[in-house]
Amino acid sequence: MEKELLIKRLAEIVGEEHVATEKEAVQDAAKDYIGYRQFQRHSGHNMVNLASCVIRPQNTEQVSEVLKFLNENKVDVTPRAGGSSVTMSIEPVEGGVIIDCSDMNGIIEVNEQDMYVTAKAGTPLDAMEKQLNEMGYTAGHFPQSLPLASLGGLVATRSIGQFSTLYGGIEDLLLALEAVMPDGSIIRIKNVPRRSVGPDLKHLFLGSEGMTGYITEVTMKIFKYRPETWWMKAYGVQGMQTGLDLIQDIMQEGYKPAVVRLHDPVEVENVIKIDAPKNTALLLFIVDGPEKVVQATGEGIDEIAKKYQAMDLGRKPVEHWFATRNDVCYTYIDQPVYYNMGAVVDTCEISANWSQIGKIYNAVRGRMAKEIDNLYLVGGHSSHSYTTGTNLYFEFAYIAKDHDPQAVEDEYFKVLTIIMEEVLRYGGSIAHHHGSGKYRTRWMPKEHGSSYELMYKIKDALDPNGIMNKGVILVDKEEA
Ligand SMILES: Cc1cc2nc3c(=O)[nH]c(=O)nc-3n(C[C@H](O)[C@H](O)[C@H](O)COP(=O)(O)OP(=O)(O)OC[C@H]3O[C@@H](n4cnc5c(N)ncnc54)[C@H](O)[C@@H]3O)c2cc1C
Repeated sequence: MEKELLIKRLAEIVGEEHVATEKEAVQDAAKDYIGYRQFQRHSGHNMVNLASCVIRPQNTEQVSEVLKFLNENKVDVTPRAGGSSVTMSIEPVEGGVIIDCSDMNGIIEVNEQDMYVTAKAGTPLDAMEKQLNEMGYTAGHFPQSLPLASLGGLVATRSIGQFSTLYGGIEDLLLALEAVMPDGSIIRIKNVPRRSVGPDLKHLFLGSEGMTGYITEVTMKIFKYRPETWWMKAYGVQGMQTGLDLIQDIMQEGYKPAVVRLHDPVEVENVIKIDAPKNTALLLFIVDGPEKVVQATGEGIDEIAKKYQAMDLGRKPVEHWFATRNDVCYTYIDQPVYYNMGAVVDTCEISANWSQIGKIYNAVRGRMAKEIDNLYLVGGHSSHSYTTGTNLYFEFAYIAKDHDPQAVEDEYFKVLTIIMEEVLRYGGSIAHHHGSGKYRTRWMPKEHGSSYELMYKIKDALDPNGIMNKGVILVDKEEA
């Protein structure tokens, strides 16, 4: 469709002042924080496709009218919320339209009897959490991107927070939602504690990354907020595997601490920098809940830690982590700190069962040391644990050999491929919580195996014109 006509009609629907067409604004809306894109930007290369415009609808009805129009004209759509993507998920198709929900912002209802909050999709999580805290509640969802992300994006990515071992991921917290389908129809999924009336349709949107519809309203559980009861303790153990075994024991004994983190010796030495014997891995725990439960859980953790000869490091390292846990949002992302060192730095989160996770950790580190000759470091941490397994958050840095943008991309994917291949070899999942975005899509057929075909069927049924966020999750059919 001709650009001028497209912009004119969109301005009629959402208002001229809510349509941005300037190159800078359009590029800014598509800005992603994946390590190599940041490096390319700092070296003066913005390699992202240019959308025709970014629009900010003011309400659900406008989203509906916009999608109906774009669908009829087969114009590509990229949904956007807080813009904290690290997976290139908000990078548009050339000439497409970015629909930003950030003007649809605010709490609609806090229900203290039924313990839920309903808010518009563009509501920043941070603002919602602060409002809830003032009322004595919490949403229990604390991703590191808390200062950046908004509700629509958090649902669409299947996000998870730092207190997940108690509260769960967003899929455990989401009660209900409203969304606009690509043809403009508005659907609502109602708020009940549980039901058995067919598959749970919320899952068509949880982790959809904007490829099934546009989320406009979200209802989440709330919990009593009582940080004054928190039990905090740090331990040092010899080596990563000892730490993994210790967490496995805690989870399988039935304890439910909120925060369970294990930083490997590489992170302890290079990132956390505590004074500890060589090869120390650091465990951090926060237990949240009613006082009696907190006390009993703390005692249980202490007892198990002793079995593993863990060094008791007290509360201080946990307090320090808690106070600085989201600083990266202000101090590192999009800053030229690493670029000035010539380094590409990033993280990659995966998951696997307890029987495999240690093997993946060793295999990835072993291969990187052998195959990436400009490697600066590769380490990681586990931060979300279950009775069956845990996640690993690989952290890696290497010195870029070349500043040519294509070379930067190729080098990045050489590193990433090692992680993807080893995770798949050991039967893990290649994405624990950031999603596929547009950079892990090529591994999705192997990730899903024989069930991948269902993903195309869902997409074809819900978005037959294929306008919604092309490039996430689904490999072009011919390439699959
Ligand atoms: C420093 C940093 C730390 C991070 N830490 C965490 C963490 O601890 N846990 C975690 O899970 N993630 C983390 N992330 C990743 C990111 O913050 C999450 O993926 C977050 O959920 C994205 O939310 P957002 O509002 O920024 O969405 P955006 O980045 O705007 O969009 C993300 C995806 O959601 C889709 N989308 C956005 N809005 C809508 C809508 N209204 N309807 C349908 N689809 C939509 C987009 O198309 C895209 O696919 C981190 C990122 C950074 C930069």
